[in-house]
Amino acid sequence: MNVLLPQPIEAEAIVLLEKENCTVIRAPDPKPETVLPLMLDAQGLIVRTGITVSRDLLADANELLVIARTGGGLDNVDVDAATEKGVIVTSNLGVNTISVAEQVLAMMLALTKRLDLMDAAVRRGNFAIRYQNLPRDLNGKTIGLVGFGRIGCEIGRICRQILDMRVMAYDPYLSEAKKAECRTWVTIVGLEDLLSKADVISIHVPLTDETRHLLDAPEISLMKPEAILINTSRGGVVNETALIHALQNNQIAGAGLDVFSQEPVAADNPLLKLDNVILTPHTAALTRECVIRMATEAARCVIDVFAGREPPNVANRQVLAVERWKHLHRTRPA
Ligand code: NAD
Repeated sequence: MNVLLPQPIEAEAIVLLEKENCTVIRAPDPKPETVLPLMLDAQGLIVRTGITVSRDLLADANELLVIARTGGGLDNVDVDAATEKGVIVTSNLGVNTISVAEQVLAMMLALTKRLDLMDAAVRRGNFAIRYQNLPRDLNGKTIGLVGFGRIGCEIGRICRQILDMRVMAYDPYLSEAKKAECRTWVTIVGLEDLLSKADVISIHVPLTDETRHLLDAPEISLMKPEAILINTSRGGVVNETALIHALQNNQIAGAGLDVFSQEPVAADNPLLKLDNVILTPHTAALTRECVIRMATEAARCVIDVFAGREPPNVANRQVLAVERWKHLHRTRPA
């Protein structure tokens, strides 16, 4: 079986694939024109975020059985097109939860304690900045989580238990069971309520037609002037132009951004000139530990399908009903 890698993945995952006698095919680069001819002979495809698996890319991939995303978001995979071709699509929701949660906490603390400003001041000899009392406490403040799935919930739990923060969440798709389970420590509110009351707003929704520009100028204008916004979900969820405008005019206190409307960020993006932002290059899940977890889990999903097993986190479960997949069984060996 051939497993195509449009971008490199960790050696630990390659070892797993080769142990199962898979032939690993590495694309020289992830450009569609490079990857397209390699798709013809691929039975498995493991994708990171640097490629869009479009309908065109899948059109002649008639051997393909499974597309495994190393991360959680599937906005760079045309899942409908894959489903029409009978291809199983898996994602790794959950594998990166703690790494992204830690990144949000790091951004939240760095922004409220003004770490970059303090560091620069000490280096410039401005020790007296300490008398301006610029850092703030998080204790007793409110975090507003837009999207209360795996990552949102984990951040809420840590903020509640460790920082004694109040937790609000907006998630219209939350099950009644989940609401009941966390009702003692989370207040479920509408988006406007959350935006106008929270001191820290952190976004954890997938990018969909519904969530694109979920935070646009009118929503951002509801935020308190001392509030900070953290986005580790997808750049498209926030209207970046509106956010830049709000930051330039001190309409909000700051932002921590791991994701952008365009990645890599263009050299002339005004965000690069702002001193009330912390920017990271979509690295929330790219800790050394997490990339190994993500790559090996994606490899296991491909191996599962090749071995006639149903992998966890199938994103297009309807595909399992087609004849080709009716024989799949569920148990993965320990
Ligand atoms: P999840 O599926 O567990 O949670 C997503 C939550 O969003 C769900 O509870 C869902 O009900 C909610 N939601 C969906 N549409 C909504 C809407 N319109 N309004 C409000 N809530 C809505 O996913 P997760 O593991 O928590 O990850 C969240 C997102 O974070 C992913 O989709 C991915 O895009 C992003 N992510 C980014 C990184 C990174 O490296 N920066 C890593 C992992 C995940």
